[in-house]
Amino acid sequence: MVMISGRGVDDGRETAFSVFDRLPVGICLVTASGIIHHANPALHDLLGCEAGGLPGRSLCEFALDHCGPGGAQGSGKPLRVLRNDGSTRWVTVAEKPWDSGAGGEDGMQRLLTVTDVDAVCRQADGVKDDAPRAEMPVVDALLEASPLPLFVKNAAGQYIAVNHAFSRLTGIARDEMLLRTTFALTGPDMAREHAGHDRDLLEHDGSVQYEAPICTAEGAMRTVNLTKTAFHDGSGKPAGIVGAIHELSGSRPNEERLEAILEQSPIGVSVSRRDDGRIIFVNTRFAELIGLPREKLIGSRARDYYLDSHQRLRVLERLRGGGGVTNMEVQFKRADGSPFWTLFTVNQAVIQGMEVNLAWIYDYTERRSMEEALRDMASRDPLTGIYNRRSFMDMARAQLARAHRFHEPLSVFVLDVDHFKRINDTFGHATGDDALRMVAAGCQAILREYDILGRLGGEEFVVVLPGATADESRVVAERVRRHLARMPIEATDGTFRLTASIGIAGLEGATDTLERAIHRADLALYRAKHLGRNRVAVFEPGM
Ligand code: GH3
Ligand code: MG
Ligand code: MG
Repeated sequence: MVMISGRGVDDGRETAFSVFDRLPVGICLVTASGIIHHANPALHDLLGCEAGGLPGRSLCEFALDHCGPGGAQGSGKPLRVLRNDGSTRWVTVAEKPWDSGAGGEDGMQRLLTVTDVDAVCRQADGVKDDAPRAEMPVVDALLEASPLPLFVKNAAGQYIAVNHAFSRLTGIARDEMLLRTTFALTGPDMAREHAGHDRDLLEHDGSVQYEAPICTAEGAMRTVNLTKTAFHDGSGKPAGIVGAIHELSGSRPNEERLEAILEQSPIGVSVSRRDDGRIIFVNTRFAELIGLPREKLIGSRARDYYLDSHQRLRVLERLRGGGGVTNMEVQFKRADGSPFWTLFTVNQAVIQGMEVNLAWIYDYTERRSMEEALRDMASRDPLTGIYNRRSFMDMARAQLARAHRFHEPLSVFVLDVDHFKRINDTFGHATGDDALRMVAAGCQAILREYDILGRLGGEEFVVVLPGATADESRVVAERVRRHLARMPIEATDGTFRLTASIGIAGLEGATDTLERAIHRADLALYRAKHLGRNRVAVFEPGM
């Protein structure tokens, strides 16, 4: 980082000035009358002078246009200079007071920053740049020599020079950058941040260093370190900014960063040698998933953690074929032997010359149970939590097929709440809903574990009783009916009771269907209603 400071450098002037030697812009220190005391190599090159040829001369000797007393034009406007080799260059000269502390004329020196803006000016003025390539401006050559991406911006934030390292990093050609602003390089938010730093620098001077993400030529986002320094024109007005991009990979070891990232990963990561399958790296998450400390995992074999050898062979097959595996559902086992489902990804890689398998395991167990929960939700009636019509029919049909196959009895009953409309009308729809939940729970409390209860719709429920004849079902149905009739239901002003009617039908013959059985149960239900409700009726032919 280069700090340009005008204070406290009296005796160490040479040393202080040497920091300018590495800058890609021309810098010189001049007396009040404009005589150059010191000039950096970039300025020598810019003006076509041999090393050490500038001290004792004035910048005005090189100026083709009007030149201010200090050798600068004063306005920050581009100025044409005649180089020693006879060619011309457009430059801007920025000026900054330099207190050498020596007093007298020597004490009133100024630091001039001479920036080559030749390419920009020729482009802007439509001047044909017929200079051969060998006469590339010296600043360009200096910029070129720098392995660091460098850029120079004017006070308006436009790039007036960038080097090849910059183009290589960003993928934007130098000519494309000229007169563009940072908004051409990054998103608007980041660009505003850059512009904010630039504004601060131009107002308050000095240098700034900060981290920022940039988009590389490959399209990847990369965090880099930026160092920027402001420079001023002859009248002390801010003239622009010189910046360098340092990539973080140089300042922080890559591996450390990589490990830090892997450590925070919610995905288990392991690296194993391809030759003997031994694990050489695991992150904390991997150790957590397996339930062993990292020390125990390192050196163990990846194969030990597969639950199913077929799954392992499938993975190996893909790896042998030179490919990888992406998000395969694979079951692993923990140290205590308990299995867990993962989404497993393995790829082959070469790390420090060693052929390895890079594996990522994502604990899938939670997601699986979530899927099960969703599937369950889709099969349930949202109000009562019992099976909805569709899943009831599926399950009942399976039971019916089974009953036919094993020549076992099976019966169906349909239950309908009596005068439910009145309940809604009297206590409100919400209490009606509560009553339906209570009816479902009441039925479930009486039914056997393998009986299937579903809600057909409204206040109508249906039950399949595998293994039960119609007469046996009647006993169960009676119990349900009595239980419901005794069940108090809460309403806003006290409790009430309800009754239900039930119609029963048993299987008839080997070709009977569920739909027909339910229809017969419905006919029996109709009879129960007709006979005065709160009763059970078994289907009889002729109903
Ligand atoms: P019956 O004894 O003849 O069965 O008389 P009922 O009043 O129960 O007759 P009906 O089957 O005609 O009325 C059922 C009522 O149930 C009509 C409808 O508003 C109500 N209902 C249907 N689904 C729901 C529900 O999900 N919540 C509530 N609160 N009411 C419902
Ligand atoms: Mg009803
Ligand atoms: Mg009804």
